[in-house]
Amino acid sequence: MSNKKYIFVVGGVMSGVGKGVAASSIAKILQFHNLKVTAVKIDPYVNVDAGTMNPTEHGEVFVLNDGYECDQDMGNYERFLGKSLTKDSYMTTGSTYLKVINKERALGYKGKCVDVVPHVPLSIIEQIQNAGKKEKADVTIIEIGGTLGEYQNILFLEAARIMKNKYPKDVMTILVSFLPVPKKVGEMKTKPTQYAVKTMGQTGLSPDILIGRAEIPMDEKRKEKIAFSCSMKKEEIISAPDIDSIYDVPNNFLNEKLDKIILKKLNIKKTRKNTKKIKEWANFIKSSKTTKQKVKIAVVGKYFDTGDFVLSDAYISIIEALKFSAYKNHVGIELDWINSKKFEYTKTTKQKVKKELNKLKNYDGVLIPGGFGKTGIEGKINAIEVVRKNKIPYFGICYGMQLASIEYARNVCKIKDATTYEIHPKAKNKIVTLLPEQEKLMKEGNFGGSMRLGVYKAKVKKNTLAYSLYKKENISERHRHRYELNMEYVPTLEQHGLHISATSPDGKLPEIVELSKKDHPFFIGVQFHPEMQARPLSPHPIFTGFIKAAKNK
Ligand code: GLN
Repeated sequence: MSNKKYIFVVGGVMSGVGKGVAASSIAKILQFHNLKVTAVKIDPYVNVDAGTMNPTEHGEVFVLNDGYECDQDMGNYERFLGKSLTKDSYMTTGSTYLKVINKERALGYKGKCVDVVPHVPLSIIEQIQNAGKKEKADVTIIEIGGTLGEYQNILFLEAARIMKNKYPKDVMTILVSFLPVPKKVGEMKTKPTQYAVKTMGQTGLSPDILIGRAEIPMDEKRKEKIAFSCSMKKEEIISAPDIDSIYDVPNNFLNEKLDKIILKKLNIKKTRKNTKKIKEWANFIKSSKTTKQKVKIAVVGKYFDTGDFVLSDAYISIIEALKFSAYKNHVGIELDWINSKKFEYTKTTKQKVKKELNKLKNYDGVLIPGGFGKTGIEGKINAIEVVRKNKIPYFGICYGMQLASIEYARNVCKIKDATTYEIHPKAKNKIVTLLPEQEKLMKEGNFGGSMRLGVYKAKVKKNTLAYSLYKKENISERHRHRYELNMEYVPTLEQHGLHISATSPDGKLPEIVELSKKDHPFFIGVQFHPEMQARPLSPHPIFTGFIKAAKNK
């Protein structure tokens, strides 16, 4: 394809209606046409990246291969597209301004007065085009965060307007809107959407296609009404009702012929549907629906403060990774979220806590995800002790691996005061420690983007549980942590039966710990974040092993 194409996806009426899923599903249906597609996500906040935010603010912090810390939506794009994205695919108001300011400081504007307009939108456009170029993408999908009518995303919409004006045949805009069905009225209302289109007009843009999110499908009459009042054609209005699985949205879009209308509007000719790709995806959806047996998994964590919504957002990649591996094992999963504070003893609650801990025995598997700081860590350590002693399959991720090592050091190696530098920097027995280069960064107060971040290679030892899962020696996994298992304690841990089954290629940093089969059916802790590379069609082997062990319990 000669000309590169761009699709801007913007949201109207309200946030949280699934603009990200709609955008990634658009990407997916274009992949079904054998097009090379990439995505750019724009978040209008001022943070330069998502790394310094608490997960209760904006959900999980997702890490790319190149170590960039970004919004959880990037995980969504990687899972739908089945490929890894780079730093170019993510921008915020903060990162954009920082780029412009750094360029100005480096005399990059050659003495010109640097203005908000056009220089900021032009910088945004430059990054969008770079993202597409680097991936050699035929089509780049750009999701502009926020909702039409806000102040925050106005410069990004201006970038879309400039691009559309310059390349009218190669750029299009899709509005993802919401259509309420008020209970008392009992009818789907289009007015908020009409207003959203009007608001879009104020930015100099109008929708080429409108995706109508709603609880129920949109009928023909509603489509006609929107088309009539918004100067659109009926076939440009797409119905997108709630459905059980987000991965089924591309299929719904195909049924609505969204692919055809996009190709027509962008003048993309001579593509052929890849039936093999469509079938693979359909089979994955089918396997997610046909499972009867369920495994019961407990996730013991701490970012549960603000109710169910945040809870699933803070651990979204873990939930998805568990699902993919469950389908591969032909089972479903029942997830329970347990706040680890429940497992912490106080003088008055001893019996109650014991009872809570005992309940863990009812689970087929227990997972402790990543985390930071001291809240709830003693509870997590208590949980690990129960799970280890009762041979319940255990999967510890990052902090979950570090705490498993501390539990082992305390209760098996009898190092009673074993701890981590993160909580007790002056303690004697720091099983988890801070390397000198990290210590220096901390002293300088250099917290943003300074952890061990992104993809690193590791070597898996043969004849281990880890090797039986990966079936290979050389692996590469994404990291996001500051502390490391302390090498000085490795011989003691090994002697007592907690084995290091993978290290960094130079052997200096432990990457996986595990118990041998004779001691426990499945007990593994990984320093990295395998959930970030789990994809629908290629589930992660450790998650798959964990679910298999849970199924066998
Ligand atoms: N807090 C730990 C560290 O920084 C673990 C981080 C994590 O679980 N992602 O090393």
